[in-house]
Amino acid sequence: MQTTPSPSLASRLCLACAMCCDGTIYDVAVVREGEAERAASIGFTLTTGEDGRAAFKLPCHHLEGTACQRYQDWRPSTCGKFRCATQVQALMATSQKATRSNGSQMR
Ligand code: SF4
Ligand code: SF4
Repeated sequence: MQTTPSPSLASRLCLACAMCCDGTIYDVAVVREGEAERAASIGFTLTTGEDGRAAFKLPCHHLEGTACQRYQDWRPSTCGKFRCATQVQALMATSQKATRSNGSQMR
C-alpha cells in the first residue's frame, strides 16, 4: 500500500527520533549512482557499503540534535526516500483514522 505521508507527521516522528541518521540503526547509508561526487562536496564521508555500493558514514555530520540541517537543501536521495517500519505504520494508522473520520462525517 502506498501512503502519502503527512509532512507534519513525518517531520514530527523524525524530529523525535533521528535514529536512522545518528548511527543507532545503521553505520552507513547508500549513495545512489551519480550522487557520490555531490555528496562528497558537501562533506559526507564516503565509503563502500557491504553490497559494494557507495555509501556515506553515519552518524551524519549534518545532524544537529535530532534535526537534519540539510532538510531544505540538496541531500542524498536516500535521505528523503527512506521510511522506517515505525514511520510507515504510523502513517497508515493516521490514514485509516482519517478514512474513518471522513466516513462518519458523510453519514
Ligand atoms: S525514518 Fe524512522 S528511524 Fe528514521 S528518524 Fe524517522 S522515525 Fe526515526
Ligand atoms: S543529510 Fe539529514 S537526513 Fe540525511 S543522513 Fe544526514 S541528517 Fe539524516
